Amino acid sequence: MKKTTARSTAAPASTRSTTKKLDPAKKKPKVKKPVVLAYDLGGTKIAVGVVDLDGKILAFQREVAFIKQGKQATLDQLIRLGKFMIEKFPEISHVGIACAGPLDPVAGDLLDPTNFSGPEGNWERVPLTTVLAKGLKKKVILENDAAAAILAEIWKGLPEGTQNAMILTLGTGLGTAVVANGELVRGGRHLHTEGGHMIIRAGDQSAPCGCGQFGCAEAYLAGRTFAYRGRKRLGSEIIDAPQIAARARDGDPVSLELFDEYSELLATALHNYIMLFYPEVVVFTGSFAAAHDLFLKNTEKKLAKMLVRRNKVMNLQPKLVISKLENQAGLLGGAYVAFRAMRLL
Ligand SMILES: [Zn+2]
Repeated sequence: MKKTTARSTAAPASTRSTTKKLDPAKKKPKVKKPVVLAYDLGGTKIAVGVVDLDGKILAFQREVAFIKQGKQATLDQLIRLGKFMIEKFPEISHVGIACAGPLDPVAGDLLDPTNFSGPEGNWERVPLTTVLAKGLKKKVILENDAAAAILAEIWKGLPEGTQNAMILTLGTGLGTAVVANGELVRGGRHLHTEGGHMIIRAGDQSAPCGCGQFGCAEAYLAGRTFAYRGRKRLGSEIIDAPQIAARARDGDPVSLELFDEYSELLATALHNYIMLFYPEVVVFTGSFAAAHDLFLKNTEKKLAKMLVRRNKVMNLQPKLVISKLENQAGLLGGAYVAFRAMRLL
């Protein structure tokens, strides 16, 4: 992947020769930086924004996604939000969408996203870029949300020159994406890594997953599934993940035990990911990453124990860090793929 250096937006030669004759004390006419429209579509929320080539968000809007109302309602919502932004920034030519997977980024189709279902049931295959290109009359590029987030991290979050990194998005689900040797990793058929559905405790009936299996990493490590397990253990119907975290910080032994189990399972999942991709840094993002004070150090220790023999000859232990991009990584990643399609990055 090319490192992002903002391209010169020098004016055409004819303009330059005119400006030479101007009084040097006068300011040169401001050249507008290219901008793109970017979306981040998740299981519960849609964010839409206009982003410039420096990664600056010039306009932004967030709404509850109409997923529960169904596929058509959500597509109409995306088009309405996009049109609103394009009216303000008519120079937009490209649109990038970061969306929950699975999806086919080359065809631009959603492949029945795991956490999307409405009154008509599951979404099945949806030609998302075709529908949006028709509705917005722009070129539209689709990318998996976790892949978009790791691209945004490499662009604007991690230290310059980072070549080997992985991201774990801990929210409704557990998304994963990897950059290895400077390139985004995709599997065969252009499909993305689905590390959330790597089974880490086979047949564990206490951990049902949205994909239909039991014992997937996502069934323990997403904020939503952590809360589901916590409610059972704490005998509460309504407690959520931030409340369990608050109890743990107050020293509640059951809540602390839940976080210890979480660290153990996270270390197991990371061990498996390391054996496939060898990241030097793992970035955590998503709403549940806010509880990092309760699991990150512990996970690091447990992981170091698992890697003790290998670390003697080559340090495979990745740095575990929290994203600095807060919840903007998906949106910035959407912008990144749009700029890349314009050959500006
Ligand atoms: Zn699963």
